[in-house]
Amino acid sequence: MSEGSLLDHALVRLDEAAAHLAIDADVIEKLKYARETTKVRLMIRMDDGSRKSFLAWRCRYDDTRGPTKGGIRFHPDATADEVETLAFWMTFKCAVMNLPYGGGKGAVQVDPRKLSKAELERLSRAYIQAFSRIIGPDRDIPAPDVYTNSMIMGWMADEYAQIVGEAAPAVITGKPLALGGSLGRGDATARGGYYLVRHLATDLGLGQPLKVAVQGFGNAGQHIARLLAADGHTIVAVSDSEGAVHAPAGLDVHALMTAKAQGRSVASTAGSHGHERLAAEKLVGVDCDVLVPSALENMIHEGNAGTVRAKLILELANGPVTAEADAILARNSVIVLPDILANAGGVTVSYFEWVQNRQGYYWTLEEIHERLRVIMEREGRAIWNTAREKGISVRTAAYVHALNRLAEAIEAHGTQNFFVS
Ligand code: NAD
Repeated sequence: MSEGSLLDHALVRLDEAAAHLAIDADVIEKLKYARETTKVRLMIRMDDGSRKSFLAWRCRYDDTRGPTKGGIRFHPDATADEVETLAFWMTFKCAVMNLPYGGGKGAVQVDPRKLSKAELERLSRAYIQAFSRIIGPDRDIPAPDVYTNSMIMGWMADEYAQIVGEAAPAVITGKPLALGGSLGRGDATARGGYYLVRHLATDLGLGQPLKVAVQGFGNAGQHIARLLAADGHTIVAVSDSEGAVHAPAGLDVHALMTAKAQGRSVASTAGSHGHERLAAEKLVGVDCDVLVPSALENMIHEGNAGTVRAKLILELANGPVTAEADAILARNSVIVLPDILANAGGVTVSYFEWVQNRQGYYWTLEEIHERLRVIMEREGRAIWNTAREKGISVRTAAYVHALNRLAEAIEAHGTQNFFVS
């Protein structure tokens, strides 16, 4: 990737969209910067009695359309730039789906795989102690992201309730069911992407069955593989941080999920079930119809975008394709269903969880799936039509769609900015 921060690169997409709309310069100025990013150093007691500190952030990027919403990532490479970029994407994602939220994000610079369960719980609670005045059900609502899960959200919700002295389940989504979590949150990100591909399959020119490669085999990656395999599609390759496996006739998704549940890598299944080991960096160029990046940012870049053989990229990860790679993919007629639409099922069911917590009445799994399907298809169809009508990429169309809503809200807030400094 060329010089510049991750946020600079993300903002290229905002400029591209703005060129297709008559947008006031004030709107772009407001959306170019994070409203507030708080950095703290969390100190926790380790199991051996020593004290250790970890850098942590919470960013509230923009709250024009409602309280900020976004996950908390635990990752050794987390940075303030990454947190702000993820919060920028959340701002647009919530607007794409017309959810009454702005965008936020949080992170701790840590490799959680090196912590014991008790250390992980102390770190999760320390995060909430540090940020309890920033988050809140009407202010900023965290959720899981990379290397955080419902167990961690449960600890965090409990810590927040202790601090404010009352039950406040709507402060965090992605909680365990026993603490007010929603049915259907576990696979919501993948399921949203699955509904989208199913709905647009004919428009996308996709045949049946599809050959699918999945990069990253965590929450998003495992569920998309499971959902597509259950419909008779062939999962030809998957990878995780330790390697990849390949089987042109189809991988055994159940065996892969079992390996992950047992703490093994996908590559550990090589040699059985017809799985062959593959170098992880080769996954992007595997022969397939649909490539599903479900790991981290910038995985499809200038250096490997030309090797992509898929007709469609479904971005379940946030920011997996760089702007340079976008240009190469467009030249090669590869369609990209962009992150702010493709993986928005997660935040949509998080929104359902927040609504259910606030009303104290819980929906059935069928109701969750149906409401998610309706929103994914409605927004996906509108964005697809904009892309066709304007002759622009689906990504630019998604930004145009979101920017329209953000601009309308910024305008509706009134003109007080003219009077106060
Ligand atoms: P996760 O921690 O459950 O899984 C991440 C997976 O990526 C793991 O299997 C890990 O081994 C793999 N990985 C890491 N580095 C890799 C590499 N270099 N090559 C291949 N695989 C690698 O995380 P998740 O929740 O599934 O999130 C994955 C992506 O989806 C992230 O970009 C996240 O922001 C995005 N996302 C997640 C949700 C959600 O609800 N979980 C919602 C929206 C977007």
